[in-house]
Order: sequence, then structure tokens, then C-alpha cells
Amino acid sequence: MLDNRCVMTPTRARKADAAGAEAVDVAHAALLELVERSDVGRHLGHVAEGERVVTHLFDCVRPGYRGWQWSVTLVRASRQKSVTVDEIVLLPGDDAILPPEWVPWRERVQPGDLTPGDLLPAEEDDPRLVPGYTAGDETVDADSVRQVVDELGLGRPRVLSLEGRDLAAQRWYDGSHGPEAALAQSAPANCGSCGFLTRLAGPLSQVFGVCANAYANDDGRVVSFDHGCGAHSEAQLSKRSQPQPLPEPVLDTVSWDELDTF
Ligand code: SF4
Repeated sequence: MLDNRCVMTPTRARKADAAGAEAVDVAHAALLELVERSDVGRHLGHVAEGERVVTHLFDCVRPGYRGWQWSVTLVRASRQKSVTVDEIVLLPGDDAILPPEWVPWRERVQPGDLTPGDLLPAEEDDPRLVPGYTAGDETVDADSVRQVVDELGLGRPRVLSLEGRDLAAQRWYDGSHGPEAALAQSAPANCGSCGFLTRLAGPLSQVFGVCANAYANDDGRVVSFDHGCGAHSEAQLSKRSQPQPLPEPVLDTVSWDELDTF
């Protein structure tokens, strides 16, 4: 099973230590002390790792590990003739089946992924947030003053930063609640003139409001003033679509009505 020829071209220009390169049997025996003989395939070659350090590679034939290689590293001490085993590991080869590159969960999570009980803490240095300083809080104990402080965001550990506000505004404007949405494109009028639009506070109120029409798709959502939908408070049906008036009722006082009798 062993093949003393080096079938794998060393990737480094370093010349392999002769004693280490020839010690295929030593590497193979050390490997069989750790894994089943049936898991070890042919010798694939050796790689010079450093001065008097050589790694021998053996094919891994264990089911499910196609393309993986047993890697046995041998070391020869200075002025010694024999080698010793330094490390045995299983490594993926070029055509090994590997899982996709791991992506941190924070980069994987998408809007709408949160389920009840999940936690999604904001990073300490989240650029969408800035500290909401509470300096002098002890002096603002009157209810009315506290209300103003709360509205301004003071009293909260962090508040929306300019960047966070701009990102949100752009996201809302570009999304399905902005002017480009299909609903808005065919709306009879804009949200800005709709009686169901309720106002926001702060800078975002210059562009957005909240729809409060129970029959509208955007009920309870932030909409831009130039968004719109067919449930606009002033929408009117065209004459053709309006219900036709019913004819006058006819009173028949001559014939008998046929009624079911039980
Ligand atoms: S009902 Fe339609 S037009 Fe009126 S605010 Fe809501 S989304 Fe805008």
C-alpha cells in the first residue's frame, strides 16, 4: 500500500530532509496506531515543512471524507539519524467536500427572522446609535420636564444617530411604503393629502407619517407623504363603477301572491 515515490509535488521550494522523506513506514505505522487500517489509503507524497521537518500525506478512504488526507509530520532532531512523530491530523485536500464558509449569525440574520424569545442585542459601537446623555437628570424631576426629556431621547442609554436616522429614512423611502411601490403608482392621491395619515414627531416627520386606515395594506406602518393607495380618504369611484340606482318598486294590487304554506 505504501508508495515511496513522491507523487505530490511539494509546494515549497525547501528541500525535504532525506531521512524524513524516506521514513514513510514510520509515518504509516504511527498513523495506524490512531486510526483503522481500513481508513488509510495510499501514500500521496510528502511536503518539506521546515528544516528537518517533513509531512507525509495519506489518502483518507473513510466513507464521507472524499478528498481528505491524513497528514503525519515527522521531525528529526539535529545530529540524529532517526525521526520522531510530531503531529497527525486529518486535512482537506483540494477536492475535499467542505461546508460553506461560516458566516457570523449577525451577518446572516434578516429582517423578520426574530421569533418570540429571541434576543438581538445591538453592538456597543453600533453606528446607528449614539449615547443619550442624562447629565443633570436629578434636576429634571418635574413630570412636564421629564416628558420633554423623554421625547428628546434623553433618559435612554442610547438614541438614534444621524446615520441611523438617515439609513432608516432611505430604507423606508425605497421600500414598499415609498413612492415607487406598485400601490402608490396607481393610487388616486398621495398619503400627504389623506385623512388617515397621522403625523410623526422629529425630523422624520418632514417626509413620513403613519397610516391609520384599518382597510389599507399599510395600516400601522410608516409611509412617505408621496406614497399612496386606493384607500385614500378622498378616493371616489368612477361613475361607471358606482352602483346603479334601482328602479322604483312596483306594487301589484291585482294578482294573488303565491306563498309557501306549512
Ligand atoms: S390609506 Fe392609503 S393613502 Fe391614506 S395614509 Fe394610508 S396608505 Fe396613505
